[in-house]
Amino acid sequence: MSVLIVAEHLRGELRPITLELVSAAQELDGPVAVAVIAKDPSALTDAVDVEGVNEILSVKVDQGEFENDVYQQAVEQLIEERQAQVTLLGFTVNSMGYGPAVAAKLGLGFASDVFSIDGEAGGLVTTRAFYGSKVHAEVEFPGHDRVMLLLRPTAWPPAEGAGSAAKEEVSVSISGSRARHLEFVDVPTGDVDITTADFLLSIGRGVGDKENLPQFEELAGKMGAILSVSRPLVDQGWMPNSRQVGQSGKTVKPKVYLALGISGAVQHLAGMKTSGTIIAVNSDPDAAIFNVAHYGAVADLFEVAEELEKLY
Ligand code: FAD
Repeated sequence: MSVLIVAEHLRGELRPITLELVSAAQELDGPVAVAVIAKDPSALTDAVDVEGVNEILSVKVDQGEFENDVYQQAVEQLIEERQAQVTLLGFTVNSMGYGPAVAAKLGLGFASDVFSIDGEAGGLVTTRAFYGSKVHAEVEFPGHDRVMLLLRPTAWPPAEGAGSAAKEEVSVSISGSRARHLEFVDVPTGDVDITTADFLLSIGRGVGDKENLPQFEELAGKMGAILSVSRPLVDQGWMPNSRQVGQSGKTVKPKVYLALGISGAVQHLAGMKTSGTIIAVNSDPDAAIFNVAHYGAVADLFEVAEELEKLY
């Protein structure tokens, strides 16, 4: 199946989701084209020239920053012109601003928040979550020979390795934008960005009391980890929202996720279950966190913390 990927960039830098889309595209077994829509696409083409990309399409527009109506017009024309069977976008705020509109206008099959793709079963089958991740459903697209998928960030590893894609300039006609970029206003992310951490020490309601937090902050520091939390600790005002892992918090994918006193509610798992190695400590042997953990200990978290403190 031929694939068209729309590169996502911000302030002149490629966003990680773009290379994750390239990895996902490999499961569709067809030529992969990446479109870079920008004022100066050439500044980004090297960054998307990775293994698995056959063609890079430079699409020059007047706007220096993302505008949804500009992307909508450009992507519509690219899909029509290239006759791409599958268009891949990130399940991101940017893509949600134009992807569904393009799909509706062109009559494409559509699914968002997709975290698995199977292009081998004779047709395209994707998997996505419903009802706050309580249900995972397979979605097919009968009657649609062209499909748009918005893929969940971090569900695929970023593509690596130098590529040798053919480069082509493609012109699109844009009838202006209703929006005008004025300035960036950074959302305060708090003291740290847990989404980029390699090692998260994550604590849940099992820690019991706010008074116990300094112990885990200190332990995280000693272990070279960043402290993250489950939602109840944020709801109680013990930790800032920037540290919350899960459906209504951050999606993380550290190399190691050490969960202490976290039960493993679906809303929490939605934000961390693709972590490299998950280690869970919980006094309840039936805790759902053990279903996703690679290593688990049925133990008192304070005793484990004490042993770890001795080690570090
Ligand atoms: P609990 O479920 O209370 O679990 C505490 C665990 O600690 C238990 O398993 C217990 O056995 C263990 N424990 C207790 N004492 C010890 C001890 N001494 N040693 C070892 N283990 C011990 N939650 C999130 O985390 N992130 C989200 O983004 C999120 N979004 C949500 C969105 C919606 C719309 C809704 C409805 C809920 C959301 N939640 C989210 C809440 C979620 O449903 C759970 O309530 C929450 O994840 C539970 O947090 P917890 O595991 O820390 O607490």
